[in-house]
Amino acid sequence: MSAQRPRIVCQFSCGAASAVATKLALAQYGATHDVQIINAFLANEHEDNRRFLLDCQEWFGQEIVQLRDEKYGADIIQVFRRERFMKGRNGAPCTKLLKRRLLDAWKQPGDVMVFGYTAEEVDRLEDFRDRNPDRPIIAPLIDAGLGKEDCKAMVLRAGIELPLMYRLGYDNANCIGCVKGGEGYYRSIREDFPEQFEELCRVQDELGPGSYLHRDRKTNIRFSLRNLPPGEPRRNDALPACSFFCEIAEADYQPSAADITSG
Ligand code: SF4
Repeated sequence: MSAQRPRIVCQFSCGAASAVATKLALAQYGATHDVQIINAFLANEHEDNRRFLLDCQEWFGQEIVQLRDEKYGADIIQVFRRERFMKGRNGAPCTKLLKRRLLDAWKQPGDVMVFGYTAEEVDRLEDFRDRNPDRPIIAPLIDAGLGKEDCKAMVLRAGIELPLMYRLGYDNANCIGCVKGGEGYYRSIREDFPEQFEELCRVQDELGPGSYLHRDRKTNIRFSLRNLPPGEPRRNDALPACSFFCEIAEADYQPSAADITSG
């Protein structure tokens, strides 16, 4: 029966904003639409993300459909090694191959997508709508005027402990050592998660300078994570979200696939 109702698709990324966006979408549309909640399992996220997912599932009163990439073992390290790059002008290969591809296989025509953009991200939403006038999306957090901190507070008030990464001071629950991170973020990862940091260093040793993520501000020369200079760690560095949908949003203003490898 529910299959005949229009589908609303919430992408649950184990972040506080996506949790509250999902909760609001269920409250608003649960009675009239077929609201689906999906998550992409990633082997490189902190294991406490799974605990958070189960707690939220109980809060939602509905199953979160967990999708899992098989080709790369849902592992960003495998993606980097096999695709031979870590980040290009066309975005990060991990989010595309471990998330976007799953969504593409799973989605159906007519799906309305729920964006977890917060009140701080109104511009991103407007930009997306301008570029994709025929793509139906809803943004419950913006409609309700809720910012990132509001979302964290709402999760806590629901009696759910935030993912450990937040509790350590990080701004997100992305993969440990997310390739979207800046220098301050990586200094924190080097301190808090030396094994994961070393693994990323080894990948860069293998792939060479094309895989380096950061540039010296004065010389503009790229440097590897292994040569990350000492300095202030910045756990709360604001990283772009990593979701099925932000990838779609970004795809519009990204150059051609040929540029991926040159980034
Ligand atoms: S969180 Fe970062 S490292 Fe993980 S898939 Fe997304 S972009 Fe890649």
